Amino acid sequence: MITGMRTDYCGRLSRADIGRNVTVCGWVSRRREHGEHLAFVDLRDRTGIVQCVVDHAHDLRSEYVLAVTGTVRERPADTANPDLATGEIEIGDATVEVLSRSEPPPFQIDGRSDVDEMLRIRHRYLDLRNPRMHSNLVKRARVNAAIRRSMEAAEFIEVETPTLVASTPEGARDFVVPSRLHQGRFYALPQSPQLFKQLCMVGGIDRYYQIARCLRDEDLRADRQFEFTQLDLEMSFATGAEVRAVISTAVAEAVEEITGVRPAAMPEITWHEAIDRYGSDKPDLRFGLELVELSDLFTETGFNAFKAPAVRGLRVPSGGDISRNAVDDLTKQCQRWGAKGLVWMRVSAGESPLDGARSAAGGRLAVTSPVAKFMSDAEIDGVLERLGAEPGDMCYLVADTWRRASGVLGLLRLELGRPPVNEGGLHFLWVVDFPLFDDVNADGLPAPAHHPFTMPHTDDLETVAAASTRMAAGGGFDADTLLEVRSQAYDLVLNGWELGSGSVRIHRGDIQQQIFDLLGIEPAAAQERFGFLLDAFRFGAPPHAGFAFGIDRLAALLCGEENIREVIAFPKSQSGADPLTNAPSPISDVQLDELGLAIVAGDGELKHSVGDGELKHSVNDEEDES
Ligand code: ASP
Repeated sequence: MITGMRTDYCGRLSRADIGRNVTVCGWVSRRREHGEHLAFVDLRDRTGIVQCVVDHAHDLRSEYVLAVTGTVRERPADTANPDLATGEIEIGDATVEVLSRSEPPPFQIDGRSDVDEMLRIRHRYLDLRNPRMHSNLVKRARVNAAIRRSMEAAEFIEVETPTLVASTPEGARDFVVPSRLHQGRFYALPQSPQLFKQLCMVGGIDRYYQIARCLRDEDLRADRQFEFTQLDLEMSFATGAEVRAVISTAVAEAVEEITGVRPAAMPEITWHEAIDRYGSDKPDLRFGLELVELSDLFTETGFNAFKAPAVRGLRVPSGGDISRNAVDDLTKQCQRWGAKGLVWMRVSAGESPLDGARSAAGGRLAVTSPVAKFMSDAEIDGVLERLGAEPGDMCYLVADTWRRASGVLGLLRLELGRPPVNEGGLHFLWVVDFPLFDDVNADGLPAPAHHPFTMPHTDDLETVAAASTRMAAGGGFDADTLLEVRSQAYDLVLNGWELGSGSVRIHRGDIQQQIFDLLGIEPAAAQERFGFLLDAFRFGAPPHAGFAFGIDRLAALLCGEENIREVIAFPKSQSGADPLTNAPSPISDVQLDELGLAIVAGDGELKHSVGDGELKHSVNDEEDES
């Protein structure tokens, strides 16, 4: 690692080096004058900082690049710096060579807590000198290396798949690249290597993996960038459980590499249980506040708001001290999330009921709630008992469909209980048996919850077959039945973040046809979109299953970062633009012309004319070749 220009790294010098003559190279982190003749210079490289005592005469400013040669010596005891790894030593009698000068940096590099993030991204090359960014990137690299080791040990083969592809089936918006040679046609950038990894299975690769870059044109969030990196894998002749075992091992090894501790076995729950207990398909298990079913207490209720398919509740232990204003805000929040309202009950001890409280639980408890007057004693007692309420608690109830009531309470649960990102340890969870269909879409057709190659649950295959026969015969479909159909899709969740998802794939033509029928994908459309995969499947497709998980998200959580930008060397800003390179940028008229493109303003006016001003549309290959 040591090259001719230096003998040592700054941050690795220690007492053991005392007396050695060394040369270190790096950037000036800080400079302090000491008396008339001497200056202390803190020199920084990727390993850390060392103090150098140099002749005051040098003009050394922040971020100048230096080579410093001198003798390692012990610092006088009263000047040792316990906060610095090299704090007991310094490089004395140093001679300095200035290798490069720097303009004053736009922000202080060491210690950056309040630096505007846009400024940091704009000057990312400076931000990367910051020890925190540096350590995040190092950790990320170690995560990748651990994953690769794990995949190689399990005899997976790393296969690279193309970046210029036809549209893939993940269902997000594609980024497209215009074709110069086939004007009017476009490549899509891959939302994932999904179809190619399935082709690899037909190709007998048996175990494929790739640390793959995926691109989706979706609104950016803390855990989402346009470009992200995932461990993508696919296995032939393997069950979903076997795929999950391989992924669990790879993730465990990555975690152990960073934290030194191997995570406990990752529990598995069904999607139904996840929604039922946590109101989310990506439950954060770092805290309790589980949802409780109350519907049966209200089957005969006289309270109109609770005449709903489901009444569900959540108890916040010692949550009763929340202010009335805060509760009103939560109520509005729940309405924005889709609830009709939020019922709350403040629980106190029965002996000393608060003003306006109503006695409950045989006088042991009292509840204060604007709707207590609409509920019977039995209902209130039932709720308190079911939720295990104690004095000082706050209970929240939502009545709606099971999914909506659970979903709203799930969000409320996060709002009230979610710890900061770097607290509460790492809680992995497999969620299995996702529904096959999410909803009914605007066209009145079932909307797939995953891509259309996801195998239905074995127990639900008959329902799928019957539904598709009925649909094909023009009989429509029964939404309630279809929305109950489960798939063999599974997600890996960490602390409330969806790390990744996968499924057993459909490898049988008849089942695939049934799914296309139900999704309303006509044979011609299926052929156009995924024809190459369907063709391949006619030549002996092995049963196969796979998975992909986001390395950015895993790395961010392992680094204790809220935002994946902190583990990405060159991220985009929240608006999707890149303040460093100014992408996306306009292209020249010449380029537009070559691509056969013209830019049309929102009002339909041509902004740049191209060639003869006419847009060429889809040109087919035969014509091009002739
Ligand atoms: N292609 C899927 C995705 O990227 C993952 C999978 O099913 O393997 O979300």
